[in-house]
Amino acid sequence: MAELKYRRILLKLGGEALAGEGGFGINPRRAEEVAQKVIRVLNMGVQVAIVIGGGNLWRGKEDGLDHGMERVTADHMGMLATVMNALALQDALERHGIPTRVMTGIEVRAVAEPYIQRRAVRHLEKGRVVIFGAGTGNPYFTTDTAASLRAMEIDAEVLIKATKVDAVYDSDPKLNANARRFERLTYIDALNMRVGVMDSTAMAMCMDNDLPICVVDLWQEGSLEQVVAGEAVGTLISA
Ligand code: UDP
Repeated sequence: MAELKYRRILLKLGGEALAGEGGFGINPRRAEEVAQKVIRVLNMGVQVAIVIGGGNLWRGKEDGLDHGMERVTADHMGMLATVMNALALQDALERHGIPTRVMTGIEVRAVAEPYIQRRAVRHLEKGRVVIFGAGTGNPYFTTDTAASLRAMEIDAEVLIKATKVDAVYDSDPKLNANARRFERLTYIDALNMRVGVMDSTAMAMCMDNDLPICVVDLWQEGSLEQVVAGEAVGTLISA
């Protein structure tokens, strides 16, 4: 078995990882593809916790607040959207026989366990994939912040932010052919540059608690395995 750099990871996925056409909804085939990627990392002997976003279904600010809704209600809806994504991913993993627990920051007891830190760690120790739904359970936050919070709580060694961009750039590489790509960044530089990859609340939490962040392209073959093996991939944000 390959040497591992990280034995317990927190994988942050945007809701768009499960999205269907146009970035909206849930496509079970995409959930299946994500599950395959998670299983490959699991098979390396890594404990895997996942925070999944809800942007493919609902974003509190853009979809609610900006249209006159009350912020807290709009954010509650966003958090519930992440629970749907969590269930879709759990279903995809369990179809492969991978024991998986969804734990939610807002109680939805009929469908998932409430989040309890000690139970989450216990699940991981038993080799179960733990998917955290409903973000932090609080409005005005994002699932990026939920990812840094849960990563800290469960003592994950790295937060892997896997999106469709392969690294952090100083501008959008799709719009600017000369965009500078970073292999490494300090937290403070990432904060000062206001890199779009993660909001500043989440980034500041990682900085204050010295949790490395690895930004990779989820869809690039082998990217997650490379992170846990300690190979250079994407952008590493650390002290
Ligand atoms: N949300 C929230 N508190 C949290 C996490 C999420 O209120 O701790 C709400 C917020 O409205 C957000 C939505 O849930 O817009 C979906 O999460 P996010 O936008 O982070 O999803 P992603 O962009 O990762 O798909």
